[in-house]
This record gives sequence, structure tokens and C-alpha cells, in this order.
Amino acid sequence: MKKFDLAIIGAGPVGLFCANFAHLHGLNTVIFESLSEVGGQPKLLYPFKQILDIPSYSSISAQELITNLQKDAEHNAKFILNHRVESIKESNKEFVIDNSFIVKSIIIATGTGFFSPKKFPLKVDNEIEKKIHYYVKEPQIFAHQQIGVFGGGDSALDWAIELANQPGTKIKLIHRRKVFRGLESSVKKLQNLKNVEIKTPYLPKSIELSDNQLNIGLKEMGSNDIISAKFDQIVVAYGFRANNQFVKKWGVNLTNNHIEVSRTMETNIPGIYAVGDVVTYPERVPLIGLGFGEAQIAVAAIMRTLFPEKTLTIHSTSI
Ligand SMILES: Cc1cc2nc3c(=O)[nH]c(=O)nc-3n(C[C@H](O)[C@H](O)[C@H](O)COP(=O)(O)OP(=O)(O)OC[C@H]3O[C@@H](n4cnc5c(N)ncnc54)[C@H](O)[C@@H]3O)c2cc1C
Repeated sequence: MKKFDLAIIGAGPVGLFCANFAHLHGLNTVIFESLSEVGGQPKLLYPFKQILDIPSYSSISAQELITNLQKDAEHNAKFILNHRVESIKESNKEFVIDNSFIVKSIIIATGTGFFSPKKFPLKVDNEIEKKIHYYVKEPQIFAHQQIGVFGGGDSALDWAIELANQPGTKIKLIHRRKVFRGLESSVKKLQNLKNVEIKTPYLPKSIELSDNQLNIGLKEMGSNDIISAKFDQIVVAYGFRANNQFVKKWGVNLTNNHIEVSRTMETNIPGIYAVGDVVTYPERVPLIGLGFGEAQIAVAAIMRTLFPEKTLTIHSTSI
């Protein structure tokens, strides 16, 4: 079995920062991520968005923030991707993870939880499925195409803007309500783009493949009118299902999909900590910067517990 001082579960922004801060304190760390890539919500849901509230950056794209955190963390921890942590058992004041790893302490940084996209609500075969995207990782592959973007939140608006910026694209943004849930400024931007048409309130009712294009029947809400629209590919941004129920199997208490923690970010199980969006306490706000601070509190608490004989050095410059 492989041995580590610390296991971090979840490689979103907060898990990644945790790995870097744990390394500064000399902790031998392993980090598990259930998906094939790190980055959590910023990487999956809003990679192109400029984030304005990360200290010391007046503006940084979500993608760039994750790249920076990942670059540092790669040297500082052992990464295990495509690994959804299933079991944690306590034995002799240590923890055994998935019967393969022995660790002295654990930080849960699973955010909103293991997530999967809400699917396009029509039955599709394999050929059609290939033209349906739930994430946009390489917007340039959509150049010179007719694209349908389905959804009304920030991700749908961000992806529509990003795809509209690619050469030769024509975008239809389709939402079942008249009003979008996302930022008003993004809606305004889209309204002013010549290659973007906004279709509200419409719902997809039928889909078929003809001449290598998707032919989608769109029903106007509140009427029986159906129009047909042709797309080379579509992007579906109906949100994600996520849950953290799995932590209950580990003996960790969960309240409304969140973990309650002490002032040192410790859960009900001594030695298991939680940070980032998975955590709840009065007045907590789901922001990356706050998660970074929680990571520092948790790592400092782990250092005090694992190495009580050491004087805890707080500042990185003195470590
Ligand atoms: C559209 C949108 C815009 C936002 N804009 C901002 C903003 O401008 N500024 C800001 O500060 N915040 C913003 N946020 C909030 C911010 O994204 C979150 O606060 C942040 O992502 C929380 O980070 P995290 O690392 O705790 O969790 P997450 O980002 O959710 O990452 C958790 C990771 O854990 C993994 N995981 C889950 N379960 C397991 C398991 N069992 N085993 C292994 N891995 C697992 C997941 O796959 C995921 O990669 C925004 C959120 C959204 C949705």
C-alpha cells in the first residue's frame, strides 16, 4: 500500500491550492480527482469567464487560474485522476482509502460533489450524440459552423459569446424562458453580436440527422407553433447534477449536501477535514478566495496534529 501524510479528495481550485500549501509545509500529499482533468467548476463550467475577485489579479480567466494552480501543484503532490474515492476506513489512527492508500489525514475538497451534466431531453442515437457537447474545451473546433447553444444560465451565455468569437460561426441561443438567469451584461453583449440569434421561449421537441446536420424542432412555449432549426453541432448547458452523498459512507455527517466543520475545518471525524464549496457554516459564501483561506486553516491544523513537537511556522518565507 502507498503511504502519504495527506490525501486531498477533489482537484478543483481549492483542492489544488491545498496541495500547494501542504507542500510548503513539507506534507507528502496525494490528490484524487474523479474526472480526467483537474480544475473543478471553473474549468468545466466557465473556463472563458474573467474572474475579478482573485486577490492580486485585477482579472484572470478561469482557465488561466486553473493552469497556474495546476502548474504549481504538479510538482507538489502525486495526482491520481479518473479516480472517484469510494471508501475510507479508519485503522490505527490512519485512514485506508479504497484499500490501496494509507494516509495520516484527509481533506475533502469535493465542491458541490461528483457531477454529471444534465442531458439533452430527447432520445438520440450514437451519431447524433457525437454532435452534442456538454463542455466547450476547444472553441476553435466550432469555427465556420452553425451552432445551437441551449440553456439560460451563465455557462450558456459564456459559451455562446466564446463560440460567436470564433471565425465564421452562426449561433442560435435557445432558452425556454424569456428571461435569462445569467449576467445581464452577457445578454446585452449577445444581443449586439451580428452572428448571434436569441430564440426565447423555445423548447427542443424533436431531433434528427439529415445531410450531416442536426434538424431540431423548437416549440414556442405557450403555443403549438414548432419551427425547425439546422445546426452542425449543439452545446447543451442545462447545468449539472452534483452530490456529496458518498461522504456519508465514510462516516462524515452531511447536511443538505454540505459538511459542517469546526473552526479548524475539521469534520465530525478527527483527522478528516473539509474545505471549499463542500463546506457549510453560517454566512459562508461560495467563492474561490474564501476556499483558499480555509485550505490554509486546515493544513495548519493538520501540521499541529501530526507534528505537535514542531513549532508551526506560519509564513512561507520562514519555512
Ligand atoms: C458559473 C459560475 C461562475 C462562478 N464565478 C465565480 C467567480 O467569479 N469568483 C469566485 O470566486 N467563484 C466563482 N464561482 C464559484 C467557484 O467556482 C466555486 O466557489 C469553486 O469552484 C469551489 O471550488 P472547490 O475546489 O471547493 O470545488 P469544485 O470547483 O466544485 O471542485 C471539486 C472537484 O472535486 C471533484 N470530486 C467530487 N467528488 C469526488 C470524489 N468522490 N473523488 C474525487 N474527486 C471528486 C470534482 O470532480 C471537482 O473537480 C462561480 C461558480 C459558477 C458555477
